[in-house]
Amino acid sequence: MALDFSFTEEQRMLEDSVYKWATSWLEPQMEHAYEVDEMPKDLFKELGNLGVNGIVFEEKYGGAGLGYVETLLVYETIARVSNALSMTVGASQTLCFDNFRRNATDAQKMEILPKSCSGEFIGCLGITEPNAGSDAMSMATKAVKKGDKYIINGSKIFITNAPVADLMLFYAKTDPEKGPHGISTFWFYPKTTKGVTIEKIKKWGMRTSPTGLVTFDDMEIPEGNLVGGLNKGVAVLTSGLCTERITLSGCSLGSQRSCLELSLKYAKERVQFGKPIISFQSIQEKIANMYTGYLASKWMAYSAAAFCDTLENKVGGKGTDLDRMAAASLLYCGEMGTKIGLDAIQIHGGYGYCTEYAVTRHFLDQKLWEIGAGTSEIRRMIIARELMRDDFKSGR
Ligand SMILES: Cc1cc2nc3c(=O)[nH]c(=O)nc-3n(C[C@H](O)[C@H](O)[C@H](O)COP(=O)(O)OP(=O)(O)OC[C@H]3O[C@@H](n4cnc5c(N)ncnc54)[C@H](O)[C@@H]3O)c2cc1C
Repeated sequence: MALDFSFTEEQRMLEDSVYKWATSWLEPQMEHAYEVDEMPKDLFKELGNLGVNGIVFEEKYGGAGLGYVETLLVYETIARVSNALSMTVGASQTLCFDNFRRNATDAQKMEILPKSCSGEFIGCLGITEPNAGSDAMSMATKAVKKGDKYIINGSKIFITNAPVADLMLFYAKTDPEKGPHGISTFWFYPKTTKGVTIEKIKKWGMRTSPTGLVTFDDMEIPEGNLVGGLNKGVAVLTSGLCTERITLSGCSLGSQRSCLELSLKYAKERVQFGKPIISFQSIQEKIANMYTGYLASKWMAYSAAAFCDTLENKVGGKGTDLDRMAAASLLYCGEMGTKIGLDAIQIHGGYGYCTEYAVTRHFLDQKLWEIGAGTSEIRRMIIARELMRDDFKSGR
């Protein structure tokens, strides 16, 4: 059993290439991009050139054929520069296209996944609605079959990448009387389909990651755009949530790591009372806590990802160990990320309050990880539910 976080040579090379790209291409743009709240235009094409858009996709679809450990590593590394853009990448590649890969036909995958790998296509996933957040199963969006088409009415809110997406995967009620057993999964092309409007939502954090309100008004899509089977949406949704929670933990991890590194550097350089502030015990205490929190978060996330990679089909969902581990990973990383972000701002004093400092962006972005992909409260409910299972065995 290796417990030392020693990545393979291939994983190290992957991390190095992504970090080099993130610090040379992304970082110089971030202050301005964050201010104007714009995603860098060629983000996905850049990542396509780096070969990290379809990390877990099979090579025949243009992917790298790697695992969720590598996905987590890539998201952590992007988030060392931008938590928000790491989320945007995760929303496209894991939430949308990876779910699509698990459920679409081979012909559909052959048509679409190579475009997601090259960066030509950006994806988004629509679960949340204005009146159905944590209680996602109470969604009101409906899909009604008419001939060889489905007619969609309803809306989805807080959808990451919706304002820029080429493909949207979403859930709708196909048999409302059956409750959760009457939900199905669909996809469509938002830029070319009639009957859909997308409005960008203004946010104080996670700027640069575009978020949208999507409204369907008699939108028609072909019946072939149903994925995963009629009324099988909940299975698609819950199986995807595990890999989503594990890999998105990387967004928080990357920011945690940067907060630690930036604070350490700043505390060594900043002189008050004739000494670097790192010589003060209360600053040392914060830095020690940041380091310990980051290391614990890292263990939570990578152990869940490594466990996921050992599973056949790498699928979780209700009633699996992965469900509990994935919820615990994002719960811990999210809450620790906010604490570490707050300590980092405190160490930077007034400068930490100014938008030109990267540490401020990391802090603003971190809070989302107590809310997005199921709130901390919902993650605790999932963990408790899985712990109460009769066949639960402690130790993992
Ligand atoms: C920047 C951003 C990006 C997002 N990206 C996406 C995306 O790409 N796709 C998507 O579908 N969604 C996305 N979301 C939506 C996100 O998943 C939801 O915001 C989240 O699930 C919570 O739903 P809600 O906001 O409606 O809050 P609510 O569900 O209304 O919750 C409000 C509060 O009540 C608490 N609460 C609710 N139910 C319970 C309960 N049973 N017990 C205890 N407490 C409870 C919650 O924990 C929370 O504190 C995004 C959100 C944001 C802010």
